[in-house]
Amino acid sequence: MYREFLRKLAAGEALDKEAYLSLIENRDVIRDEAASLACNLRRRVYGDKIFIRGLIEFTNYCKNQCYYCGIRAGNPHVERYRLMPDEILSCAATGYELGFRTFVLQGGEDPYYTDEILTGIVRDIKAAHPDCALTLSIGERSYESYRKLKEAGADRYLLRHETVNPKHYATLHPASMEWEHRIQCLRQLKELGYQTGAGFMVGSPGQTMEDLADEMIFLRELQPQMVGIGPFIPHQDTPFAKEAAGSAELTTFLLSLIRLTLPNVLLPATTALGTIDPMGREKGILAGANVLMPNLSPADVRDKYLLYDNKICTGDEAAACIACLKMRVEKTGCRIVTERGDFCDASKDASCNTRSFAGANSG
Ligand code: SAH
Repeated sequence: MYREFLRKLAAGEALDKEAYLSLIENRDVIRDEAASLACNLRRRVYGDKIFIRGLIEFTNYCKNQCYYCGIRAGNPHVERYRLMPDEILSCAATGYELGFRTFVLQGGEDPYYTDEILTGIVRDIKAAHPDCALTLSIGERSYESYRKLKEAGADRYLLRHETVNPKHYATLHPASMEWEHRIQCLRQLKELGYQTGAGFMVGSPGQTMEDLADEMIFLRELQPQMVGIGPFIPHQDTPFAKEAAGSAELTTFLLSLIRLTLPNVLLPATTALGTIDPMGREKGILAGANVLMPNLSPADVRDKYLLYDNKICTGDEAAACIACLKMRVEKTGCRIVTERGDFCDASKDASCNTRSFAGANSG
């Protein structure tokens, strides 16, 4: 039965929760087939291109207390830092020279960065690099704030919902953080015209296979342009220090399912996946991912932005990271490109419509 579900999914049919659950539970048998179908779909939309995003982790101050996260406000062992606007600009300039055409500003929820400061940074980066896309990943803010940042020139926004299940969400976060609000933020970001990224951790404490099936249904309904998933990895100074980590094998299978559900999605093989498995990022690409997000943060702050233990690449220069990733990607049969790598939107560009393309070419 699950083979039939897989065929239906690859042909563009909507699956129900039970069908997704059956795929997930039988993943050992169908993993290779799912990966190959996922890579076919990716190829139809994006060819063999892997897009790179220069990640600038500009602050590790955070007002929140997420139980899984190493930079939570309650962790006294973190040496806190903030990059000033000129330092962020200089990271972007270095990245531009290395070929990056997308910059991702990520940080904890740090009230220091008011709308005024942030819109200034966004404007300056866009003025210095008008041919680049700018992505923000700075958590929950007001609609007005999202609107101002969009107006200032931000193109994309990453806000993982972390889990589709509100009850599960309440066990990962303190009561001050509401699942409903996070989802509302995601819908607002989409409405404002951001290329929007949702996503969840795989194997976070208390997550069930049913939750994962629901994740797929939720993503199909939300239709985000980007989806970020990675295994949960415990951090020693958090309430979840003793919890088990998520697995690379489940994460990569879910990457295939996400690609099959949302053929055009921009889907990173994340640093967390590369941390839990030395070949994780290659496996992610071979499962259907098409984005890598190497670190552009200055070398002296790299080892202070630790969301989880044993994070990779904290000692490397950005240039070395690129060289290493190029080699790794070549072995997958794909290639790193230096373009913005915007979402290929089938509703605006007929050549992005994979399903009809797939139909036209069957036979
Ligand atoms: N403050 C921003 C950025 C969060 S960091 C925001 O709220 O969106 C980016 C992502 O890292 C988080 O959304 C979470 O999914 C992931 N993350 C945090 N701690 C983690 C851990 N211990 N293991 C794996 N992923 C983690």
